Formats: sequence, C-alpha cells, structure tokens
Amino acid sequence: MPIYEKLMGNPFVDVGVCAICEWLGHNIQPEQITAEDLKQIVKDFVPLAANWDKWTSIFTRNHRLTNGRQSDRVPKFKKRLLGYIDQTVELGQVGDCMGCGRREVGSIPLLDKTGVPLTGGKNSNFFPVFSEGAGYCPACSFAIQFLPLALVATGSSGGRFLMLHSKSWELMQIWTARCITGVNQRYSQQQSGGCFKPDYENSRNGLFYMVREMISELEEMQLYDEITDKDVSMEVYSFTNNNQFPDVEIFYIPSPVFRFLYDAEQNPYTDTWYEIVRSGYKRGKSEKDYKKSRNLVYEYLLEGRSIRGFFLSRRTQKQRGNWELLSLYLQKVRNMKPARIEKIKQVGDLMAESIRKSRKRGKRQLRDFADANTYAECRNILLRIFEDRIYQHKEPEPLFSFEDCVEYLFISSDNAQSWSDELDDGELDEEQKEQLIHSISDNVTFWRETRDLLLFRIYEKLHSWLTEQEDD
Ligand SMILES: [Zn+2]
Repeated sequence: MPIYEKLMGNPFVDVGVCAICEWLGHNIQPEQITAEDLKQIVKDFVPLAANWDKWTSIFTRNHRLTNGRQSDRVPKFKKRLLGYIDQTVELGQVGDCMGCGRREVGSIPLLDKTGVPLTGGKNSNFFPVFSEGAGYCPACSFAIQFLPLALVATGSSGGRFLMLHSKSWELMQIWTARCITGVNQRYSQQQSGGCFKPDYENSRNGLFYMVREMISELEEMQLYDEITDKDVSMEVYSFTNNNQFPDVEIFYIPSPVFRFLYDAEQNPYTDTWYEIVRSGYKRGKSEKDYKKSRNLVYEYLLEGRSIRGFFLSRRTQKQRGNWELLSLYLQKVRNMKPARIEKIKQVGDLMAESIRKSRKRGKRQLRDFADANTYAECRNILLRIFEDRIYQHKEPEPLFSFEDCVEYLFISSDNAQSWSDELDDGELDEEQKEQLIHSISDNVTFWRETRDLLLFRIYEKLHSWLTEQEDD
C-alpha cells in the first residue's frame, strides 16, 4: 500500500499532499510518493519556510518556525517533520486519523491550531470530550505542513488565504502548480518565502482571478474536454488563522458555473464578458481598484443568484454582450430549456419590429416595459404592443400565441393571478397565506426574468435606432 492516495477526503490533508506532489514535479501522483521523497522536500522547503511571509496567519505565532530562539527554529521544525516520516506507515484499511481514516494516530501529539489551521487552541472546550486537539496520523500531520505552497494570499495585508478543494484532482494540480510558480517567483525576486500573492485585496476577486488562470492553463494543455466531463465543482476556503481573529468563509463554484466561465473566457466572448464583469464593480476604474472593490457579478455567481441584470444597461438602453453569450449563461447556469430561450428571442424580435414601426409611441412602450414593477403592468404594455401589431401594422400573426405564453413566456403567472384572487377572498388562515405569498413572490421573479430577457433582445435589435431617435 502507498503512503498517500488522491483525495482522501480531508481538505487540509488533500491540499498538503497535492502541494508535495507539485513541488516534487514530474507529474508525480500521490500513490508514488516514497519516504525518500518526503525527506527531500523537508530539505528543500524548510529553509524556504524559515522566512515565510505571514506564516503566523497560517499556523499562528506559536508555531515552531516563528516561536522560540531564532537559531533553534529551523532545526526544531525539521526534527518534527523527520519524526513524522520515521513514524509513517503505509495506508491500511481503517484507523482513527481525521485525515485519512486509514491509519492510527498512535502516540504522536494531537494537532492544535499551530499544526492545522482553524483547529482551536489550548482551550480544550473546542474539542470533543475535552481533548487537547485533533488527531492526525504522522503521514497526514506531515502533509498538512506543506499547505502554504498551495495557498493564494489575499486580503489587505496578504494574511487571508484561499485554499482549493475539489473532486477534480487535475484542477487541484493546476491551482497548486500556479501557486508554486508564484512562490518560486517571489523567492527569486526577494530572497524570502511567501505564498503566491497576486495582490487581490478582495478574496472573491482573487478567487475569480485563479479561475481565469486555471482556465487558460486548461486551454494551453488542451485538457478541457477531458476534465470537464467530470465533476469540476470547487470548494474554496478563504481563511485566516492568526491568533486574534481566526475566521473562515467557504465559496462554492458548481460545475455548470465553471463550464460557463470557461466558455465566456474564450473568443468571441472574452471582451463582452469582461464588459459585463466590469459593470459589477461597486467602484473604481483601474485594474488596481478592481483588485479591491466588491464585484456583484462574482458575488451573485457564488451565491447562485441570477446575473442577467448585468447583461442590461437600462439607462443607456443597451445590452452588454450578445444573445449567444446570454443564452449560454441561461442554458448552462440557469438550466433554461433551449426551446424557451428561442421563443423569447422570437418574441423579442417581433416586439422590436413593432416598437420601431410605432415610433414615438413605441419608444414610450419600451420605457414603460422596462419600468414595469408588477406583472399586471408588464401584461398591459404587452397588450398594447399586441394590439398595435394587429390594428396599426396589420400583421396577420399575433405577437405570441396563448400556448407560447403559458408554455414559454410566463409559465406560472396565471397561477399567481388566481392565487392572489384567493388571497383576497379571506378564506385562508395565516399559515396558508404565508405559503401563498411565498409562491406568488416566486412567480413575480419569474415574469421579471422573462421581461429582462425580452428587453435584452429588444435593446440588441434597436439600440442604434433608439440612439438616432434621440436627436429627433
Ligand atoms: Zn492519516
């Protein structure tokens, strides 16, 4: 049996093992790591770690490398690591280790927050049955010490870290390899160690920077198809483990979002996608500002909220991106059926035509449509355009059929109307009312979605006409 395997389940251990593999290089897999390899990495890494920037934010200031007499620090840390190697055994079937679950913790000391980030301190109240720390076997305890090689430093002082855990080992390798390149660059430039630090004060923005880096690497290695057939969801821990304010936030990027970002980053979408991303910044104009400022597009993607609003600029009556990019997002991330997307596009085209023919009245209709706050308002404007099309422009076909309306456009809105009638009846008790209001508000967001998508298509078709009209 080997010492390590891929993805044993504990994020700190898996990331540490990945860091060891990528540091050793030559595409070494966890199953191939030998005790000799581990001795080699101790020799290479410990002198580097001795001057590591923000080490105390990863392992607290009580760590062996940052505590006690200066001249003792490196030898003591080395001794501990070599001790772990001496006591390491191959993976077995079962054991009480929190990392692998396949080896015993044995007689080695339990790890507190100086050994594993976010594991509490001397206060035994943090741990089950008042134990002194968390139980990891020697091999897992060893692996965790190499975490810093796979972390991205963010935050205003660089003391907040991003750590990736994914079911895709390949993605973890790509992330870690990027971090190690950054570590080596820092080391060669400054003669001191530190985590890869692309200078993102805002951790979420730093995370999306890493996603871009990973995508371009996948592209370069032509690995995309092979990898993205599998689960490529990512859990990213954003943490600091300094003594005063230890804290963790977990970001989740599901596979569909990753796949959408991959497509959006490629031509012909790259430029328009950045235009959309830029519209999400709360403030700032330069790349430097963007590293600090909150970005709502990124935040909504992480929260699973729709970003369709960022595809539109209502003020300038202009869309951002094109229908293809929007429909890619709707299909991949929002799971919208292609038939519905296509129908909305067709209706949007017909509406644009009618608005153009109605000239001034059409422009007013468009503004009212964009400003509609209730489904009733939205429906009234659609009705006006509907009537113009038949009575003014003498078109033989209606804007859409009843079937189109209930199947593709406003799928549940009729129900919402009947529910609101039911609410007015006064026959429901409080709990039933609450249930109904909940369902109705779901439907309200639903008509807004259809309206926004129609608006996008109309702006796409009419923007230059609308701009010319302003001079009238
Ligand atoms: Zn273990």
